[in-house]
Amino acid sequence: MLGVVKHGQLPRGGKPAVALDEIEAGIEAAWQAFQAGFDVVAGSSDETSLAEAVLLDPSEFEWRVVDGALNRLTCQDCHSTLGAGPVGCHRCDQANGYRFAAKEIDRPHVPPGNEHALRVASAVARTRHRYSPQARCGYELALPSLLDGDLPTTAEAQASKAAINKLTDAELDSVTSLSDVVARSTTATG
Ligand SMILES: [Zn+2]
Repeated sequence: MLGVVKHGQLPRGGKPAVALDEIEAGIEAAWQAFQAGFDVVAGSSDETSLAEAVLLDPSEFEWRVVDGALNRLTCQDCHSTLGAGPVGCHRCDQANGYRFAAKEIDRPHVPPGNEHALRVASAVARTRHRYSPQARCGYELALPSLLDGDLPTTAEAQASKAAINKLTDAELDSVTSLSDVVARSTTATG
């Protein structure tokens, strides 16, 4: 358990947390724009029905809309935000899988694949308890540059991964930048 940390908050802070706040705001904005097109009132049962309808075929919708829909639904089994419950909650595992079927449309002036990388990193950061310390460290630290429209090369990603694998679990959850990871990994013992 992560105590009082809410869904979509990054306890490590720093630029990754700022980036995730921006992504959360983007998900809310995307949902509200989508919902407005259906003349649905926020908080109404119509909104719940619209969210459920989106999840019937997530491949038809942009990922922020799908994540916005998940935000509006509660898992009947574990009572978490749908898709954000513990690994092993079948209903959440299934809903979490749906989100990856959504459309990922690259923003103008970014390398192809940036939106996919941003989408995956966001999903990990938003349901971070579902992933290993190594995975959430790698994806969360990548958020600021992905949001800026960068995409690491394979070699850069491999170098980051190698450095991350030298850190302890406590370090993995406290570092706030890749340069921080590199600095700690070069002083790591054993
Ligand atoms: Zn659940």
